[in-house]
Amino acid sequence: MNFGLLQRKYKKIFILLFTLIISLLAVAAWTSRTKVAESDGGLRFYAFDVGQGDSSLFVLPDGKTILIDAGPEDGGKKLVKELKKLGIKKIDLLVATHPHSDHIGGMRRVLSNFQIGKIWDSGFISSSPLQKNFYSMIQKKNIPFGRPKRGHSEKMGDVLVEVIAPAQLIRGTKRDANNNCLVLNVKYGRTNFLMLADMEREQRLTVRPLPRAAVLKASHHGSSNGTDMSLLKEVRPYFIILSYGRNNSYGYPHKEVVRAVSSSGIIRLDTKDGTIRIVSDGEKISYPQNREVGKNGSY
Ligand SMILES: [Zn+2]
Repeated sequence: MNFGLLQRKYKKIFILLFTLIISLLAVAAWTSRTKVAESDGGLRFYAFDVGQGDSSLFVLPDGKTILIDAGPEDGGKKLVKELKKLGIKKIDLLVATHPHSDHIGGMRRVLSNFQIGKIWDSGFISSSPLQKNFYSMIQKKNIPFGRPKRGHSEKMGDVLVEVIAPAQLIRGTKRDANNNCLVLNVKYGRTNFLMLADMEREQRLTVRPLPRAAVLKASHHGSSNGTDMSLLKEVRPYFIILSYGRNNSYGYPHKEVVRAVSSSGIIRLDTKDGTIRIVSDGEKISYPQNREVGKNGSY
């Protein structure tokens, strides 16, 4: 037997196997990186830093996605980048809560960059060119479109999307667009994410009481016409998300809101500090600092 030949043969096989394993590992690493959007069994929530505006994403346990608002026009590019970084290719449900530019300004870029399953809006018509362009893009792309009202709910896998408002369209308030917002509660197991958009006091009166929710996306960027102590007592959140731009000219968040939140012991997370990520397993929720809350009496 020629041992030298045998050794060379084994060496060759070893090198071949080694190369194969390395290649497989590289492919696995690449695949897991590109499939981030396919969730790991929980519900993932993101609130993005889009400057002075609002944009939140849910990645459902089955990988489906819900994007609520797209921030202002000048934040659109950054939002698209963030979504792509998360591996998002399709938005299954895109929600335009109301036609103000700090919520639908980035829609043009979102519609141009992602496949869209369907779109919901509040049904409040403003005569702004921004909303007109949004509608004409939806028409051109032939995207299914709806205007659900309070009482409507939609099952998306294990997640239930409930329409809390509008109950009916309101006219004659100081800011009608805000008072006709599309407000959703995203429910996974025993955890609720209440997304108040820019709802103000007048609209709130039409939909009381609000459901209890572990996570509350505060209304109207932390404005005092959107949040007060009675609302916090009604919803009783563990987390409150304040979505606003650094040094904004409106003075958001208002100091009354900041005071009410801190005296209630609610964990406050601000988008101006960067993307917020919260995960729910249906029972308890956790946020980047890995602190778990809601093990007992979660909601
Ligand atoms: Zn707004």
